[in-house]
Amino acid sequence: GIPDSANLDWKKGPCRFCGVGCGILVGVDQGKAVAVKGDPNCSVNKGLLCVKGYHQIMCTQAKDRLTHALVKKNGRYVQTPINEALDIVANKMKETIEKHGKDSVAMYTSGQSTIPEGYVASKLMKGAIGTNNLDCNARLCMASAVAGFLTTFGADEPMGCYEDIDHADYFITWGNNMAEMHPVLFSRMLEQKNRRGAKIIDFATRTTRSSTASNKSILFEPQTDLAVANAICYEIINNGWVNKSFVENHVNFSKGLTNMGYGVEDKYNFKDKPTKIDFEAYKKFLEDYTPEKVAKYSKVSVKDIKYLAAIYGDPNKKVVSYWCMGMNQHTRGTWMNNLVYNIHLLTGKISQPGNGPFSLTGQPSACGTAREVGTFTHKLPKGVVTNEKHRRLAAKIWKVPYERIPAKPTYHATEMFRAVDRGDIKFIWTQVTNPLVSLPKTSRYRPGMEKDSCFVVVSDVFPTPTSDVADVILPASWHIEKSGLYGNSERRTQHWDKMVEGPGETTPDAWMTIEIAKRMGYGDLFPYSEENHVEEIYNEYRQFHEGAKHGMAPLEVLKKESGAIWPYVDGKSTQWRFNAKYDPACSNDKDFHFYGKPDGKAVIWQRPYEPAAESPDTEYPFWLNTGRVIEHWHTGSMTRRIPVLHKAMPEAYVEFHPDDAKKLGVRNGEKIKVSSRRGSCVLPASINERGLPTRGQVFVPFFDENMLINDVTLDAFCPISKEPDYKKCAVKVEKA
Ligand code: SF4
Repeated sequence: GIPDSANLDWKKGPCRFCGVGCGILVGVDQGKAVAVKGDPNCSVNKGLLCVKGYHQIMCTQAKDRLTHALVKKNGRYVQTPINEALDIVANKMKETIEKHGKDSVAMYTSGQSTIPEGYVASKLMKGAIGTNNLDCNARLCMASAVAGFLTTFGADEPMGCYEDIDHADYFITWGNNMAEMHPVLFSRMLEQKNRRGAKIIDFATRTTRSSTASNKSILFEPQTDLAVANAICYEIINNGWVNKSFVENHVNFSKGLTNMGYGVEDKYNFKDKPTKIDFEAYKKFLEDYTPEKVAKYSKVSVKDIKYLAAIYGDPNKKVVSYWCMGMNQHTRGTWMNNLVYNIHLLTGKISQPGNGPFSLTGQPSACGTAREVGTFTHKLPKGVVTNEKHRRLAAKIWKVPYERIPAKPTYHATEMFRAVDRGDIKFIWTQVTNPLVSLPKTSRYRPGMEKDSCFVVVSDVFPTPTSDVADVILPASWHIEKSGLYGNSERRTQHWDKMVEGPGETTPDAWMTIEIAKRMGYGDLFPYSEENHVEEIYNEYRQFHEGAKHGMAPLEVLKKESGAIWPYVDGKSTQWRFNAKYDPACSNDKDFHFYGKPDGKAVIWQRPYEPAAESPDTEYPFWLNTGRVIEHWHTGSMTRRIPVLHKAMPEAYVEFHPDDAKKLGVRNGEKIKVSSRRGSCVLPASINERGLPTRGQVFVPFFDENMLINDVTLDAFCPISKEPDYKKCAVKVEKA
């Protein structure tokens, strides 16, 4: 039923789903979105889209769309005019603060929020109310990348860009099934493989669609990526492959931030502060990581470790390393990020076309919103709450007293829900996210959200297990029903204008936050107009960058083009940061300048191998790994409502190695109970279908709210980044 495309009004914007940030064109006919195609003028995807991208607008047609506010009265949801529902939320938030103090209320937002949505959430909580009780779901996926960047470079976000794909000789993917998670980038890599012989090496704990399309697949035992990365560094040093002049001029060596536990319980700490060491001390530390020693427990052969090291060590080969959740969702996620940087820093393969470490994002604005405008508890727009200068700048731009912005971070995601359970948080508002499917060990956090001690507000597009426990459900606009800006993995900020009207009383999340702020008495701090609030907020946010090296492109540029990469300096995107050839913010007398660090030098960190928080034993003999599939977006609340995607992947499954399935007598499709010390879940078995876990490991995708694998996962996290490890815990499997 799609009308002739010639009659459609094609409107540009970014895709709603992953952090690749493909440009889309949405065909609008008589006020209705009826078609989507890839934007051929967008340099990210050059007209390509993946299956989610093509079908995205179909979810707006789902019959159970939340179109009006719902307020729980006597245990039943009653449709309520949006203005009345906003009054109820604002009164409740105000009353809770008056009774229990400003730290009794919290907001939990998303890497899928737009930049203006994240910005006003930050301004409301930190600037108006004066609490740092704001965190976002990017804590569950990107926090280790942030902590890795800050500890190594003192500045967040990748230094390269997608154009690296056109120049690299090798792509090494670390625990990253890009064929399903970042499909358009993977297509671009495959094109380079086919056209000019670039090679893809997949380094992972299971065989996936990415492995089969790669030139080589190398499997490792879960958690031993820490040791293999060190073994690669050992080889680089002991074969004389170190780029000496780069290391001498641009690198320091450090150790510290260890002895820190796993964050399963509320108490954890660091016994050792960062200390500078010298190259010789670092070299000595690596003696525990010879390929021969590491091969014994990583199950990676000596030959393969040497092969990886030789690729990185070859001065004539350009190498890009890609990673995402496999490395970030790790109890030592910050260390893993540091370790891949160590490899690139030792060889000087960094921030040049085709050479560099590249941490990818999962959500469309994990960079733009979560990391850039202050929706982590410790962050402010372009700054951190712990820095007095940053607080003073925020206070000046927001026109609030400096003393109001607290200097100490409060709760990160999992701790926020622990505080709800304890009764310390008595009001929580979740926007654009579904924590009761996505939190690890969900069973630990659901009871707190169900208790009467906490008033729960959920803004969303569809009902979810999280909205099921809400006191008030606010109907949110879907992305093409509002204007907005996203920031993708390559630091590209993309703008779009509202394309169609949303149904019923659906409202943009930013506007709901502004309306709540006004009703709470902060109207003078939120002087935005309903029609132009996106532009007005973005222009205000740009003031944080005035006179800084990290300038953001003006809105007029973003409207005309398919985004711009920051730092945007003198009318140009900066594609490679810290490299004086490309980055005008570098000082003139140096080829590289890591200006996030006071002395301009990046840090090579001494990071040991440590075992996982929980490993298989006789009672729970299998590793459990969880993740995504190409058809579904995160918790599936949108893509499960797209008929073609739902049909292609209707339910979650548990994936076995055929030898394990044979040993247990399990047949394809048979119902299997997967249990851990925390909970269980029943799923059909999948053998030799899509992926192939190593022996002793099972894999379950997490998109299916009817088969909640996160009841089984462990809520251990990296104590530096506070990002949970969804990739490793111990389970048993039996026929259900
Ligand atoms: Fe959308 Fe990501 Fe697919 Fe591109 S690769 S179309 S951004 S889901």
